[in-house]
Parts: sequence; structure tokens; C-alpha cells
Amino acid sequence: MPILVMKFGGTSVATLDRIRRAAKRVGVEVAKGYDVIVIVSAMAGKTNELVGLVEETSPLFDAREYDAVVSSGENVTAGLMALTLQEMDIPARSWQGWQVPLMTTSAHSAARIVDIPADNILRKFDEGMKVAVVAGFQGVSPEGRITTLGRGGSDTTAVAFAAAFDAERCDIYTDVDGVYTTDPRICEKARKLDKIAFEEMLELASLGAKVLQTRSVELAMRYNVKLRVLSSFEEQSDEAGTLVCDEEEIMELNAVSGVAHSRDEAKMTLISVADRPGIAAAIFMPLSEAGINVDMIVQNISEDGRTDMTFSCPTNQVARAEEALKKAKEAGEINFREIVTDSNVCKISVVGIGMRSHTGVAAKMFKALSDEGINIKVITTSEIKISVLIDRKYMELAVQALHDAFELDKAA
Ligand code: ADP
Ligand code: ASP
Ligand code: MG
Repeated sequence: MPILVMKFGGTSVATLDRIRRAAKRVGVEVAKGYDVIVIVSAMAGKTNELVGLVEETSPLFDAREYDAVVSSGENVTAGLMALTLQEMDIPARSWQGWQVPLMTTSAHSAARIVDIPADNILRKFDEGMKVAVVAGFQGVSPEGRITTLGRGGSDTTAVAFAAAFDAERCDIYTDVDGVYTTDPRICEKARKLDKIAFEEMLELASLGAKVLQTRSVELAMRYNVKLRVLSSFEEQSDEAGTLVCDEEEIMELNAVSGVAHSRDEAKMTLISVADRPGIAAAIFMPLSEAGINVDMIVQNISEDGRTDMTFSCPTNQVARAEEALKKAKEAGEINFREIVTDSNVCKISVVGIGMRSHTGVAAKMFKALSDEGINIKVITTSEIKISVLIDRKYMELAVQALHDAFELDKAA
């Protein structure tokens, strides 16, 4: 039997009614003759609630216990989905990550998938099971401890299963009907894309478009998984939603095909550090050892042998970053006058493969922001994206202004 992977996100399984609706969608595919692997998220809001409980219990928590707690939301949905399917006379059972077993690294709360042996589930399909409902987001480490794959990780579970089982397609059912030119919740002119190239989706995801977890796009690209994003709230045809595919399958390439935003960014500046060889390493080594995800970096012009070094990182890592830098200062590894932190910034990015061949994208972006009176604090670029750090209060305005400037509401 051909295998299909269907993943349902938190809002799509938020209530028993919605689980029933999702189960009906699964039933349609079973009726077409597929063996289906269903990947489920925790019910909407559940994972946040569990993270809150952990943080309240133990601010400097043991990551292994964090994973034991936050992975549990998915267990509930997997069981409920299997029961719902059984009520519809569809042979189904649930699987927690360790039962598959979905093997991961030991990097708790950010584990990577190492292996998904297919035998156990395939044997059940052979015995007549039609649907394997698998709890997303979780796995088991070589030490036998429960791990999680990072927030949004059920997308990655889904794509990894599609690769491991050579599925015909991996359908990601969510609360929007596809991938848009930008977050449709921020910009009402956002346009749904029929297709998006893997590389563009990868950039959009890593720059904040949470519709797919970055790692899931990486895996889909590497294993050539046919990946589709679509709504769980509407009747769907085989062509519905957005197909994430190879660049070659897309006819027209705009200079810019999407705008992404990332709200929780902080900008930290070390004032007056010695401008000498090795200083960047001395600053960023302790940050990396403390697990800080440094993103943008700018070194200012030096004066009298001193300079300022600015970098950005997620807001919730600021305290840890400050602590690491102060420790390095006390140890005499670096010297600075003060740390200035701005936790009220956000990152806005424009992404497009067409940027490789179009010029003037940066100028157009900066002009659009300046026309709205928005000051740019930090800029970084790569081959197919330009990102800026701006005040968070301008986030929506900036996304809308850029969407207009690059005329993303119009098809190519
Ligand atoms: P799920 O719970 O199904 O995994 P998520 O909340 O993780 O859903 O992802 C879907 C959300 O991603 C949408 O509700 C939307 O607000 C957001 N989003 C951000 N950027 C985009 C984009 N470019 N296209 C579609 N959705 C986007
Ligand atoms: N429930 C997890 C989260 O909220 C994983 C997921 O939904 O993809 O991050
Ligand atoms: Mg998600």
C-alpha cells in the first residue's frame, strides 16, 4: 500500500470536535487506499502551559525533566486521535516516540532525529492496521531518556517519517490554507503561494515564519519529500495548499517572494572593548559555551584602539548572555565598559531566490522603511535574504510596507 503522512498542528486538534474533523480527513485518504501515518501536536496552548509549569517549578530546570513534561501533550492527542479513528471503524493505534522508536541525539529540548526504524509500524500495517498515530515532537535518546525536537518540532517528525517510510507525500495540516507571501495574521494583503522553493521556505522558516519548523524544511530538501501545507478547516482537493518544491518547478522568480518577521529579538552592545586580534573570539566563545544563539553581529568603527561590538540574540537568552559576558570580564578574558541591552527590537527580512539576479533589492527595502520613518539598527544580508533589526513597535508597519513595496500581493 502507498503510505501518506498527515500532520495536524495544535489548533487542528484543539478540541474533540476538531480531532473528529481531522480524523474524517484521515478517513478520506484511507478510503483512497493509503496506509496513513498521522503525526499529531499537543492541543493548542498545551505545550505553552507545560513549559510554564516547568519554569515555575524550577527556573534552572533539568532539561531531561523539561522534555519528560513538555512531550506529554502530544501523548494525549495521539491517544485521542486513535480512539476517534477506532470509533469510525478505522483500525488505528497510537505510538509514542520511544515506542517507534524514534531515536534522537541527547540534546534535550533541541534534539535531532538520528533514526526511525520502520519495521514495527510496517508490521502493524501488514497485520491490517490502517493508521499509525504518532505523537509528534518527541523521541528517545541513546540513554533511554525522552527528548523533544524544539518548538514546532512536530513538523520535523512528520517530514522525517515521510522520508523514513518513503511516503508518497507529507501533508502538514494547519490553521492557514498554505504558505503566504507573509504572515496573513499581520498583513491582510498577504497572498497564498501555490508553490514555494525549498530554499526560500528554509530562509522564511529560519527568519521567523513559524508555519514550518526550519529543520523540517531541511529534511524535506535533503530527502526530496513532497511537502505540502494546507488547512485542516476546509474541504481539500489534491491540489490545495502550498507545495514546497525544487526551484526548477517554479516558473517565475520574483526578486522577493516573501517577508518574514521575528518578534523576540534583543540587541546587546558591549561598549568600549579593546580592538585587538582575537577580541571577537574572546567575546563569542563564552556566549557559544553558554548556548546563546547569536544571530546578527556588527563591529563599530574603532577609535583610540577601542570599539563597540553589537550582536542580537533571542530575548529569553539575554540574562544568560549577560552572565556569560560578565564572567568572561571577571576572568580577564575580555574588557568592556558596559553592556547596553535593547530588548524591544524585532527582525524583519525579505527573502527571494530572484535576488541572485536582481539588483537594487536592499535599496528598495531601506527606502520603504525610511518612508515610514522606521530607523534601521542592524543589517545583515546573504545571497537570498536581507534582514534588518528595528524597533518592535514598527513590526506590523514594516511588514506591510515591505509587502507593498515589493508588490507581493500581485502574482508574478
Ligand atoms: P500549527 O499549530 O499547525 O503547527 P503554527 O502556529 O505553528 O501552526 O503555524 C501556523 C502559523 O504560522 C499561522 O497561523 C501564521 O500565523 C504563521 N505564519 C507566519 N508566517 C507565515 C507565512 N508566510 N505563511 C503562512 N503562515 C505563516
Ligand atoms: N507542541 C509542540 C509545540 O508547541 C510541537 C509542535 O506543535 O510542533 O512546540
Ligand atoms: Mg507549528
